[in-house]
Amino acid sequence: ESKLQLVHTHIRPFPDFPKKGILFRDICPILKDPAALTAVIDLFEEHVRKNHKQVDLIVGLDARGFLFGPLLAQRLGVGFVLVRKKGKLPGTTVSVAYDLEYGKAEAEIQEDAVAPGQKVLLIDDLLATGGTLYAACQLMKKQQAEVLGCMVVIELKELNGTDKLKPSQCFLPNSVL
Ligand code: 5GP
Repeated sequence: ESKLQLVHTHIRPFPDFPKKGILFRDICPILKDPAALTAVIDLFEEHVRKNHKQVDLIVGLDARGFLFGPLLAQRLGVGFVLVRKKGKLPGTTVSVAYDLEYGKAEAEIQEDAVAPGQKVLLIDDLLATGGTLYAACQLMKKQQAEVLGCMVVIELKELNGTDKLKPSQCFLPNSVL
């Protein structure tokens, strides 16, 4: 069984969650199975080593980007920083507002989380419309970090999230669905 298949079989679809009409992709089975978790981190690591000579930081998105990001960062021997929902981080922060399906949200980082010129890779569990990763890219640019790309476990291709990320020079190398 390939690593991709192993990961794929550990994504559990739930119809009508969190509301009617939405098919939610649950990644909890990946975390519960050590082989699947190793496989998904292997895939991310292989991709990064193949495509990027230098990465300074892995940037994880609230909340499920926090589950995969630190494991990948450890493999690569680099640091991990958090993009959080507004109001969760202490100290001076920088924020960016973005649209949700209903209403608005704000993504935030600590002001000193990234330094100008640092090369960063963003990671989250799933790409839907791209709004969340786009906001995180804007935050990185505000701090003059260099966004090398965005990585997700699952891409919902029919929502064309990559189109939103392309103008910001982001790409999705590692979607496995
Ligand atoms: P976007 O901003 O691309 O529309 O939505 C992506 C964000 O919503 C990600 O942070 C992701 O965690 C969350 N998300 C939306 N739908 C799902 C889903 O079906 N499964 C999971 N695991 N996360 C989802």
